[in-house]
Amino acid sequence: MVSLDGRHAVVTGGGRGIGRAIAAALTGSGAVVTVVGRGELALIDTVKSGQAMGYAIADVTHEAALAHTFKRLAADRGPIAILVANAGGAESAPFLKTSADQFRRLFELNVIGVVHAARSVLGDMIARKFGRIVAIASTAGLKGYAYVSAYCAAKHAVIGLTRALAIETARTGVTVNAVCPGYTDTDLTRESLQRITEKTGRSRDEALAAMLKDVPLGRLVRPDEVAAAVSYLCSAEAAAVSGTTLTIAGAEL
Ligand code: NDP
Repeated sequence: MVSLDGRHAVVTGGGRGIGRAIAAALTGSGAVVTVVGRGELALIDTVKSGQAMGYAIADVTHEAALAHTFKRLAADRGPIAILVANAGGAESAPFLKTSADQFRRLFELNVIGVVHAARSVLGDMIARKFGRIVAIASTAGLKGYAYVSAYCAAKHAVIGLTRALAIETARTGVTVNAVCPGYTDTDLTRESLQRITEKTGRSRDEALAAMLKDVPLGRLVRPDEVAAAVSYLCSAEAAAVSGTTLTIAGAEL
């Protein structure tokens, strides 16, 4: 059982899906968890259900607002010892139908969003000689998938960022890692199944079977399975684990 011992953890995108499961797991391990996102209802629900101690509304692509929010959270609930940079999103289209603006948009959310969050907490973590940064990347950060070139490029960048930052922070007490889930049972996957059924006329079950054809486990990953990996990386015991990618993908990779 991981013990996080009252440490303040901030989970971006913590009101839904994988982020919410991470918030619940960190809370279960004794952390004081703040969930951050744009949609207030989901954040309130996460707090009401006991999966987080508090919430803040912020868009991870807005640098100054995010930095201000993190500063306020640290003042209110204690220094941020754990950052889970989970907020992210995907869009799909063939490469030739993916505009440069779509690439910029997905980079802004999936890469620069992580940069803004990490820049907001890292200085204080180094000063306090302890910190855990976990970026939720994806198997799309480790291999290519058709029709999501912008998302794949962005998630590969998240992994490059993680590896570089881990080297830069080695010997400071801060670790930086990435978790790479495969297809996970959340709104994001439900929306992409919906798009596939609309575009191909396949049933949802057929679309799901096609999605899982290269996944030996034969089912979607559960958000709590991703969360358990994040909890481990946030623990004191994982002090020597940095710059790594932990893949939770049922032997797909
Ligand atoms: P969901 O769509 O279920 O949730 C996305 C979360 O990110 C929401 O809480 C959303 O909250 C938040 N978010 C989105 N944009 C912003 C923003 N600009 N600022 C702040 N918060 C934002 O997705 P998942 O839970 O599936 O995905 C979570 C992470 O895991 C993402 O980084 C995703 O790329 C990654 N991932 C998901 C996989 C999957 O199969 N589901 C597989 C591999 C990786 P709100 O809209 O309220 O702001």
